[in-house]
Amino acid sequence: MLFEQLGLSADLLRAISDQGYTQPTPIQEQAIPVILDGKDVMGGAQTGTGKTASFTLPMLRRLEIYASTSMSPAKHPIRALILVPTRELAVQVHESVKTYGKYLALRSTVIYGGVSIDAQVNAVRSGIEILVATPGRLLDHLQQKTLGLSKVEILILDEADRMLDMGFMPDIKQIIQLLPEQRQNLMFSATFSEEIKKLASKILRKPVLIEVAKQNSVSELITHVVHPVNVARKQELLIFLIKQKKLKQVLVL
Ligand code: AMP
Repeated sequence: MLFEQLGLSADLLRAISDQGYTQPTPIQEQAIPVILDGKDVMGGAQTGTGKTASFTLPMLRRLEIYASTSMSPAKHPIRALILVPTRELAVQVHESVKTYGKYLALRSTVIYGGVSIDAQVNAVRSGIEILVATPGRLLDHLQQKTLGLSKVEILILDEADRMLDMGFMPDIKQIIQLLPEQRQNLMFSATFSEEIKKLASKILRKPVLIEVAKQNSVSELITHVVHPVNVARKQELLIFLIKQKKLKQVLVL
């Protein structure tokens, strides 16, 4: 499968090619056409699967009709809202939006807590089509009326399981009440607990379920080390390593 077969535009394909990507990942292959079709999606995917591009690329494609170089903030209402659990992820997702959208006249910004709200207020005031936000800080902005969500067409919840774990559920509920009824909803989560399913059933409408495993995934807590050794001395090395590192539990395969 090629990116050219997924229904993306020339400007997006150019940005993808600039990144050096030659082939879509499994989640991209499955999610991009469905999202372009306007359907809601429940995506089961971890970081490292290419999930960010799997929602960012079709989101940008759908918003291309609003590309405008007008200076008027009124011409740039928020059309897509991406909610994420942490500041780090917010910055990372926003980087992807900028990278893939670099040839499009669409504006984006990122807002998160722990820093002064003033600079964020200015960025939002000038008008943006795409907002990446952590829920708490977004609510601060909404309470101060520094931004509006009445023109949002696409809602994306990234790492929804982490947002639940971090207690963002009440904030998310409040935010969703301020969105137009008619919109596309995309939710991504690495795990599918009962709580996640409940949240999905509340937010998503007839979602298409797309699940991919992380290829060759290794727990982030595991470090791989290679010791080149003569076959005859393997046992000796193993005993040495166990003694040297004072290992208490060892699995030998
Ligand atoms: P993510 O799962 O969204 O955190 O992405 C993991 C990494 O894969 C990021 O560094 C992306 O730049 C990269 N990536 C995304 N899509 C592709 C692709 N189709 N080919 C190669 N790398 C990709």
